[in-house]
Amino acid sequence: MDTSTLMQKDKEYICGTYSRFNLAVSHGESSTCWDFDGKKYIDFSSGIGVNSLGYAHKNWVNAVAEQAGKIPHMSNLYYTQPDADLAQKLVDRTGMKKIFFANSGAEANEGAIKAARKYSQDKYSAERYEIITLENSFHGRTITTLAATGQEVFHSKFNPLTEGFTHTPANDITALENNLTAKTCAVMLELVQGEGGVNPLEGDFVEKVADICAERDILLIVDEVQTGMGRTGKLLCCEHFNLKPDIITLAKGLGGGLPVGAVLFGDKTANTLGISDHATTFGGNPVVCAGANVVMDTLTDELLAEVAKKGEYITNELLALEEVESVSGKGLMLGITLKNSKDSRTVAENAIKNGVIVLTAKEKIRLLPPLTIGWDEIETGLKSLKQAINESGKTK
Ligand SMILES: *Cc1c(COP(=O)(O)O)cnc(C)c1O
Repeated sequence: MDTSTLMQKDKEYICGTYSRFNLAVSHGESSTCWDFDGKKYIDFSSGIGVNSLGYAHKNWVNAVAEQAGKIPHMSNLYYTQPDADLAQKLVDRTGMKKIFFANSGAEANEGAIKAARKYSQDKYSAERYEIITLENSFHGRTITTLAATGQEVFHSKFNPLTEGFTHTPANDITALENNLTAKTCAVMLELVQGEGGVNPLEGDFVEKVADICAERDILLIVDEVQTGMGRTGKLLCCEHFNLKPDIITLAKGLGGGLPVGAVLFGDKTANTLGISDHATTFGGNPVVCAGANVVMDTLTDELLAEVAKKGEYITNELLALEEVESVSGKGLMLGITLKNSKDSRTVAENAIKNGVIVLTAKEKIRLLPPLTIGWDEIETGLKSLKQAINESGKTK
């Protein structure tokens, strides 16, 4: 296969929902991948925070292959081991109490939303169903998680969306209080808004939201689909905020490259979902969970400390550049604002030409490298990125 044939085939047969970059990848190792012409790229994107252990991680590949040869799938009507192991690990390391496995971030959030509504209906009334989320948030693309997503651009073509969602500005506690009603059952937020532009919430705001929720028995749902699984230098971003949410959702990095989502329930919500309240055919798939178990085992405290250190190093290297205005984010979830309002898409295109894959988030360049990225790969990738930033200056 060569790149241009593949691109043609893709365009002919695959639904045109993605504005793909001019890159077709063939294989990879660690945080490096190659296209069909043999050109090498440092990957600062990890498939949008998914390939947390990079490409071809030995233990991960072995675990997945071995499980595929034993039991690739079994209905949730029966017991399997990888999902039970994974649930135990998640509970042990997060202090949450019960896990529901889904297949994506949007699905994990759907599960969280269903559980929040049921909690309030069981305890109060069916009228208590409203959920407050933040403006500029991103929670997924299903009709309900779109309703939760506080960005009008995603809504307009698909109305009517699921009712019962209100959006309030981040870091404005008065506005949030004004949006609370007798019908509010939950507040749902990302601690660092990812798609919205890598914007961390203020600690003071998060603390007050948690207090308000606790006082009124409103559930606090934290969407850690992007921030979770070590991305910010802690297993959960909640740890930076000393936060104990009632529900946490995970996906992206959890599977290390295979589709999985998880809803983590705390003390209050552990038994909210009972028999037949929620289900999904593929949830807790043995192959996927075998991979996720390796991800959990690999994310040791030492590795997480390295993630924080690498994030600081990259941030400082970038801040030293003439062209960089500021760097936002935590750990290896970084957003770069460039001076002279350079177009982030153009920079990302130039980055590929220079041999490094980066993402964008609104006007920012976004970096989500594998958590295992090597120092040498960081150096090479940064050199290419610096070059791309300079060139993007010239072309404008
Ligand atoms: C990516 C993302 C989602 C959606 O996940 P999918 O797996 O694409 O459905 C939800 N919430 C956040 C914070 C995300 O970053």
